[in-house]
Amino acid sequence: MSKHDAPKHRVLLVEDEESFIDALTIGLDREGFDVSVARDGQEAVDIFAQGTFDVVLLDLMLPKMSGLDVCRVIRTTSDVPIIVVSAKGEEVDAVVMLEIGADDYVTKPYRLRELIARIRAVLRRHDHAKEAPDNSETVIEVGPVRLEADTRRCFVKGEEIKVRKKEFALLELLLTNAGRVLTREQLIDRVWGSDYVGDTKTLDVHIKRLRSLVEEKPKDPQHITTVRGVGYRFDA
Ligand code: CA
Repeated sequence: MSKHDAPKHRVLLVEDEESFIDALTIGLDREGFDVSVARDGQEAVDIFAQGTFDVVLLDLMLPKMSGLDVCRVIRTTSDVPIIVVSAKGEEVDAVVMLEIGADDYVTKPYRLRELIARIRAVLRRHDHAKEAPDNSETVIEVGPVRLEADTRRCFVKGEEIKVRKKEFALLELLLTNAGRVLTREQLIDRVWGSDYVGDTKTLDVHIKRLRSLVEEKPKDPQHITTVRGVGYRFDA
């Protein structure tokens, strides 16, 4: 955990409220991140184009250009992880945000610890994706769950459990996107196919069954978490 272990991750903080800028700059610096600040949307696009960043923290309500537009512009050239930060009560459609390419989002007020955990999660996923671009990875291990893709075997805390084909596909999708919210539509499209016309409750039934296998307390899930109104996320 030492901050000297690895090169510092570079964070572009896009935020126009000085109180947030101060708190986040100090907090992220203490956690070993190298922080650059953009105070409006245009500045965010300009600074992003000039540097190399590992993650972007993007406020939505910004002078000159909205956070959504900043996200769209960045996505035309880069797959850098983007975490959207929205204010409570702001009319933001989380589904739209994820669809335009944000990786995750947090709502103000948030705890710094939670934000840092989200940042680390998107960075891990991103670094991982870069290391295995050919998709050759056959073993996925996140939290208590281990999946072996070639043999379709699933282990929870080292114990093999039996999962059906769709359950395996759903779990695999959640694990490979661990820390990231997947919308109900994304999950259904990718597990059942975009032409799926069945009952959308099917998804919930599968989630329930996976929780019964993976969670210590299926009624109080710690790993397969519901993101209300959006979808599900796997937390390590
Ligand atoms: Ca703002």
